[in-house]
Amino acid sequence: MAVKFRDYYEVLGVPRTASEEEIRKQYRKLARKLHPDVNKNDKEAEEKFKELNEAYQVLSDAEKRGKYDQLGANWKAGADFTPPPGWQSTSGGDYRDFGDIFGGAGGAGGENGFSEFFESLFGRRRGGRGGSPFQSKGRNIEAEIGLTLEEAHHGATRTISFPTTEPCPTCGGTGGKDGRPCPTCHGSGVVRQTKRVDVTIPPGVRDGSIIRLAGQGEAGTNGAPPGDLLLHVRLEAHHLFRIVDGDNLELDLPVAPWEAALGARVPVPTLDGPVEMTIKPDTQAGTRHRLRGQGLNRRNGGRSDLYVRIKIVIPPKLTPKEKELFEKLAAESRFDARELLPTYVRV
Ligand SMILES: [Zn+2]
Repeated sequence: MAVKFRDYYEVLGVPRTASEEEIRKQYRKLARKLHPDVNKNDKEAEEKFKELNEAYQVLSDAEKRGKYDQLGANWKAGADFTPPPGWQSTSGGDYRDFGDIFGGAGGAGGENGFSEFFESLFGRRRGGRGGSPFQSKGRNIEAEIGLTLEEAHHGATRTISFPTTEPCPTCGGTGGKDGRPCPTCHGSGVVRQTKRVDVTIPPGVRDGSIIRLAGQGEAGTNGAPPGDLLLHVRLEAHHLFRIVDGDNLELDLPVAPWEAALGARVPVPTLDGPVEMTIKPDTQAGTRHRLRGQGLNRRNGGRSDLYVRIKIVIPPKLTPKEKELFEKLAAESRFDARELLPTYVRV
């Protein structure tokens, strides 16, 4: 990205050969003149004051001045400027913004008061890494991962592949080779690739959980750190269990009429194999019974609950003997099931 070149010597009004002492004197003189305290509500003076401080930050620091001087004397203020290939800042991020120096006086406007030109040479203060001009952290990659309830409960390992960018092998991510743009990546420092990673899914994830794999995102430019891979968990529907109340499981349990009527000990499936459950006598269809701690593993330990919903079923095909017994029961019982309807619909 091209930015406007700034001639810091011109801003300070000193020759390129000026000594440290001359630069400091000239700066003090101009700073007194342009200081916001003596130029209240003067936008132009404020801008000039910021420019002045930026120029002084560079020219008063031997290392920065040396870097700046490397650009040569032929640049004109306002010219479109792109740092030369292979430009590396050795002092990236190591500078203070105006708020630090002037107690906020010069920091009006702008993110931190420095021009894009300055940041293209000495790095960006925000983000904390500074470094070379084109350095920027790689982008995050977001993807969805479908998991079964078993995988969410027990954890799992998955190999996933996705398109991403990696540092260019030809130029090692710098974008330049022998002073020219790299022929493989055309100066971007990165190449597109399909990447495979093994993902360890910890026990206890839920629908909507995000698994972050630090450093598995797109490559950063010029040696900046890569982004992260963010996997959004989607839980697949299960043939037995439903998720209820966000965290618990629910299951329909088929129960024979005599088990419901007389009570019984029955096995109940869970994600960790069957457990025994007591069905009390006179248990009605549709009632819900909680098995504490038999649901899903939680991220920080412990388990949610499993709700068992009673579903009374009759044998799919009655034997002659069973039929005979039901006939006896029908003849004997005085129970009218319709009495359970509300009175206003009772017939
Ligand atoms: Zn390259």
